[in-house]
Order: sequence, then structure tokens, then C-alpha cells
Amino acid sequence: MAKSIPPKKQDPIVIVGAGVFGLSTAIHLCRRGYSDVTVLDKQPYDESLYSYLKGADAASADINKIVRSAYGSQTEYQDLSSEAIPEWHAWNAELKAGTLVPPGMSTKDAVFVPNGSISLSTSVDLPPWELASIEGMENSGHKFTQLATTITSHRDIAARRGLQSFMDPFQRERRGKHNTGVLDSTGGMAVADKACRFALHKARGLGAKFIFGEHAGCMKELCYQDLKVIGVKTRDEKIHLAAMTILACGGWTPVLLPELDGLCEATAGSVMLFKIPEGSPLWDRLGADKFPTWMWNMRNGAEGGLYGFPRDENGWFKVGYRGTKYTNPLRQSDGKERSTPVTRWSTAEKDGSVSAGSNFTSFPQQAHEVLSGFLNEYLPELSEEGIDISLTRVCWYTDTFDNHYVVDRVPNKEGLMVATGGSGHAFKFLPNIGNWVVDIMEQTAMDRPAVKAWRWRSVGPEQPVNTLMEGCSGPRALQNIGLLQEVSLQSKRNAKL
Ligand SMILES: Cc1cc2nc3c(=O)[nH]c(=O)nc-3n(C[C@H](O)[C@H](O)[C@H](O)COP(=O)(O)OP(=O)(O)OC[C@H]3O[C@@H](n4cnc5c(N)ncnc54)[C@H](O)[C@@H]3O)c2cc1C
Repeated sequence: MAKSIPPKKQDPIVIVGAGVFGLSTAIHLCRRGYSDVTVLDKQPYDESLYSYLKGADAASADINKIVRSAYGSQTEYQDLSSEAIPEWHAWNAELKAGTLVPPGMSTKDAVFVPNGSISLSTSVDLPPWELASIEGMENSGHKFTQLATTITSHRDIAARRGLQSFMDPFQRERRGKHNTGVLDSTGGMAVADKACRFALHKARGLGAKFIFGEHAGCMKELCYQDLKVIGVKTRDEKIHLAAMTILACGGWTPVLLPELDGLCEATAGSVMLFKIPEGSPLWDRLGADKFPTWMWNMRNGAEGGLYGFPRDENGWFKVGYRGTKYTNPLRQSDGKERSTPVTRWSTAEKDGSVSAGSNFTSFPQQAHEVLSGFLNEYLPELSEEGIDISLTRVCWYTDTFDNHYVVDRVPNKEGLMVATGGSGHAFKFLPNIGNWVVDIMEQTAMDRPAVKAWRWRSVGPEQPVNTLMEGCSGPRALQNIGLLQEVSLQSKRNAKL
């Protein structure tokens, strides 16, 4: 393992990637007194404002993300949420009070909406994960924050708190259908793009420097002195020296750092966006004052893994499918295949740099079938109102084989760390994950369960949660699946197999 001498407070530190991991790390490095922190990103976030609709395609660049404490028996993440949620409220308070308002935002904006998060299931009884979430929260002193639709005393509590509509967001009971789920009343949603803008503004205010853009902000390669990493070179050929380089490049990280083979891989989730007209009855019904963030059959394999949000202030109603994690394996310059993000806005090159305008607008047929099947059954009002899919997205996660993050020094590369492997659940920790990254950089309190889970590691004897690196012959490779060019809730047109 690499030597682990932490940098001194005045030493230069370079973070590559201004998504959740990079932003949060920059904030917490500055808070701890590190005075020379530079964040590089190939995307022009001062222009795109972390909006997917304006061309930003990182995992963190989005309309909204689920915030929840419910984590089944994974109490290390439940504890992390208990730390993050008060911070989310504090960020809202800072905005509201006008103490920190990013350019273009106002004191009326919020970065967190506490509308609850419900985990729904087609089973009649509560599944084990939901039962474990209730138990985990009760055991840690958060009694009656998890409210089951199947437990009378919980329904009574929900009724007293005025949460009935949140307990049955799809109005199943009114239609005589069964409704099994647990509402995590501590949760809700992060307003993702605004939260990133807020974090960026906060980090800048604390002294972090940001260099954005496809040349000046894009890391081309690591710079070495013997085996030690001493910084990075960007595509404008500038060298940024650093006592510690932290790679936080989301789905692009495994291509930039092949040592992550077998530990991390970029996989795509499938997202549909609907635009609810202001005059529609659904505008009111799907608002965050009545409608929670939701998940459905999250542990049911390819037929499940759905989630969604209330409509936002502009009427965007977003649903996503994660039941199958698609890959885009491309042969790299070392001859190995690695899954490489390709999006509506960009395609990744073999060196991890960006080429604009790939225009990958196709949508996995299977994701379309599962999502439209769900919506036609659970929210038939969409079709009845003639509201169809406005936009689709394939959004690139960074999965690890066990769904734990990777935050550690890179073995045998002194001066280099990674903070990645979000595995579909790191956004909610934007306010606090960086504090943990800095702890790990400083090698403090390394025996905490989360820190141990995030260590550099390889697959052990137990069955991995995610099978990685199946390559271009794998069944989840975009090359091998049915892709739709046009998508509608009703039709399955133009399948390209
Ligand atoms: C569809 C989807 C839904 C999700 N839903 C949730 C949710 O509901 N709740 C939740 O908690 N989490 C959720 N997640 C997970 C969460 O979004 C991620 O864990 C988190 O955003 C990852 O942040 P990151 O910093 O690792 O990566 P990213 O946000 O992808 O950021 C990586 C950054 O690195 C930059 N970069 C890459 N290569 C280079 C280079 N060579 N030089 C310079 N910069 C570079 C990129 O431009 C990018 O800005 C979801 C993820 C996806 C994809």
C-alpha cells in the first residue's frame, strides 16, 4: 500500500471532478484549513448550471435526487443520512436567510424538499429490507419516522401528521388496490442542480479555486515523479502540481484509473421526463406538498428498481429505472474493454476526455417497457390527460461490485486518492461526504464501519452484488440490447436490435 503521509495545510491539493464527491471534498478541505485547493472539471458548470437540460451530463447534474435515512440493515449509511439531513436543512436556512445565495438563485429557492420518501412493493407483506429499515431507525432513536402502510398504529400517526396522501401517492387504496410501503418521513428530495450550485458557491466562498472547461478543466493524464503522483496535466498542456490528487470523476473514473478494474464500473440508468401542464389536475396532485419521493420494488431485479419524484416548479415529473444496469464497453488503449459513459451531450474518449455532441438519444426498450407498464397501472391519469414522455436520459452511475463507495489512497501510487463508486446512492451525502473524504486523507478514525467499507478492495468469496466488466458480449451492453429511437407511453416504435 502507498505511503500515507497526509498533506500539510498549505500544500496544493487538486480534485478532479466537480460532482458530489468533488464539491463536498472541496468544501470540507477548505473548512479544515487547507488553503490551496483546486477543482478541475471538463464541464462548463458556470454556464450549464448543473442542468441536464442545459447540457450537463454528470450523475450529479440533475433535477432531483432521493434523500432518505431508510437503508435496510446498512446502518453505516443510515448514520451518514442522520448527519446529512440536518445539514440539508441548514443549507436551506442559509439560502432563506440570504447568507449564501449563489448567482442566479434567490432566497425563495430550496436545495432540499422534506416531502418524505416511500418505498413501495407489490408484495402484500412488508419485505425484509423495509422491515430492517424500520428496526434500524427505531433502534437508533428515530422511532415513528418510518411509517408502514400495513401497520394500523403507523397509519394513525400518518393521519395525525396529515401525511395520508404521502402514504398512498398513487391512490391505490381509493381504487381498491393493495398498497404496501414504508414512508421514511425524514427523507425527501435534493433539488440536485441547485444543490450543486449552492455547494460550488460555498466552496468558492471558502477559498477553493475551480477551473472548468473541456481544455483547461479536463485532466489528460496524471503526472509522476518516480512512482509518486505529483499532480495532473490538463488538455491545455498545463501541469497542476499537487501534494495530493483526488480523482472524483464519477462514471469516467474507471477509464482514467484502470487500477479500478473489477472494483468500479460505469453503468447506465434510464430516466423519463414528463412535462405536467400547469392547468392539469395532476399539477396539484403531484406537487411536493402532497406527493413523496418514491421507490418501487427496488430489490426485484429487472422487473423492478423504479423510482420517481414530485413534479418540480417547472412541471417536470421524473421517473427512473434501475432494474437493469446497462454498460457501454469500449476497447481502451491498453486493449481492455471498459464501460464508458455516452450521453445525449457527450461521448467519453479513451483518455477520459470529452467529445461534445454525441447525441445518444436512444432509450433501452426494456426500461421503457417496465416504466410505461408501471405508469399505465399506477398513474393512468398521465395517459388519460394525454401527457406523454417529453425527454429521456441514460444517466451514468459508478457502481462497485458491492455497492459501497471507494474512498481511499490508491495502492502503490503515493499522492493519489479516489473518491468515487457512488453506486446510485451518494447524492444525498453532498453536505457531508467530503468530511469523510478528508478524514480518510488524513487517516483519522479509520476503524469506522463506513470507512472500512470504502477501502480499496477486490471481490471476495461471497457473491458480488453487481457483476462488473462483462465486456461487449455481456447481456447488459448497450450494443446488445433493444434500443428505442422514439418513446411514447403507448407505443414501442422503432426498436433497433
Ligand atoms: C440516474 C441516477 C439517479 C440517481 N439517484 C440518486 C438518488 O436518488 N439519491 C442519491 O443519493 N444518489 C443518487 N444517484 C447517485 C448520485 O447521483 C451519485 O452517486 C453522485 O452524483 C456521484 O457523484 P460523483 O461526484 O461521483 O460523479 P459525477 O456527478 O458524475 O461527477 C463526476 C465529474 O467528473 C468530471 N470529470 C470526468 N472526467 C474528467 C476529466 N478527465 N477531467 C475533469 N473532469 C472530469 C465530470 O465532468 C463530472 O462533473 C443517482 C445517480 C444516477 C446516475
